Amino acid sequence: MACAPTSQDLYAQLPGLLLPWYRENARDLPWRRDREPYHVWVSEIMLQQTRVEAVRGYYIRFLEALPTVQALAQVVEEQLLKLWEGLGYYSRARNLKKAAQVIVAQWGGRFPQTAKELLTLPGIGPYTAGAIASICFNQPVAAVDGNVLRIAARITADPQPMDTPQAKKAVSAALTAVYPADCGAFTQALMELGATVCTPRSPQCALCPVQAICQGRAQGLAEKLPVLSEKRAKRIEERTVFLLDCGGRIALDKRAGKGLLAGLWQLPNVAGHLTPQAALQTAADLGTHPQQLLREVHRPHIFTHIRWEMTCYWIQCAAAPAPFAWADAQMVKGQYALPTAFRQFVSDWLAEQGPEG
Ligand code: SF4
Repeated sequence: MACAPTSQDLYAQLPGLLLPWYRENARDLPWRRDREPYHVWVSEIMLQQTRVEAVRGYYIRFLEALPTVQALAQVVEEQLLKLWEGLGYYSRARNLKKAAQVIVAQWGGRFPQTAKELLTLPGIGPYTAGAIASICFNQPVAAVDGNVLRIAARITADPQPMDTPQAKKAVSAALTAVYPADCGAFTQALMELGATVCTPRSPQCALCPVQAICQGRAQGLAEKLPVLSEKRAKRIEERTVFLLDCGGRIALDKRAGKGLLAGLWQLPNVAGHLTPQAALQTAADLGTHPQQLLREVHRPHIFTHIRWEMTCYWIQCAAAPAPFAWADAQMVKGQYALPTAFRQFVSDWLAEQGPEG
């Protein structure tokens, strides 16, 4: 009777199966047109927690505005956050700038080439270091993210939780041991398989280039893997948000420099759910002379650990007091970076200002 293959036997077959498939099937993505480290780095940071289709436009706009690592090192924060507006996890953008400054100041504007050196840069963890080192500098270093862990769990039919540091380390070591000569193509092929074929909910096993060796498929477990540790439930917080409109300008203020959405612009808001009467009273206390409650909108916004249940009151006001910034539609569109939690309400207001607004 034939012995079952070991996990390492399975990993060893991946390059031979994946590379020809990748050459035939790789999607044409703007960041794949060259192996310039600045391009790969920006795209990898943008792609964390964000879908390819959502990133495409952001990536093109970002590189038009900041075509080099030197330009990124010098960008003013307001412009950087505006370019990032809507992508979320804004510390990623700030770390990009910090790392660019280090690259310019300490590396003469050239990227360090090894994963170990890349890991010293702000915001670059093992995944991004592996991606840049393998794709740009052809080094045999795995880039292990959720996509790659899912593929590993399925191919080896691994019943252990995969979202643990130990699992990540083990998969990284196993893959690093089988890297072929074209390291960059192997990293990208794994990413591509996870994004287009071995997807979280509906793996396309019949189209998969590694179906012949996949133990998860053979055992009918593909959709049940990977096993994940139990997640803590999200904390739910209610917030009342004010869209205060004074003659076609709305009130914005800046969040504190630390914590959730640190330093970003926001609509004024308070903890808890206020009734319409209490919201009008709060708007009066802010010195805005509220005239009329125009609309009440309820929407949630989900962060990694918190879910905001938001009630937004759109209130017409007669006064525009400091310390708020009062922005018209053009300023909201072109100047102020608003996170999606607030942008969702502002978009309704912008739509009503018309094309000239
Ligand atoms: Fe994923 Fe199915 Fe391919 Fe296995 S055969 S790697 S489960 S798509």
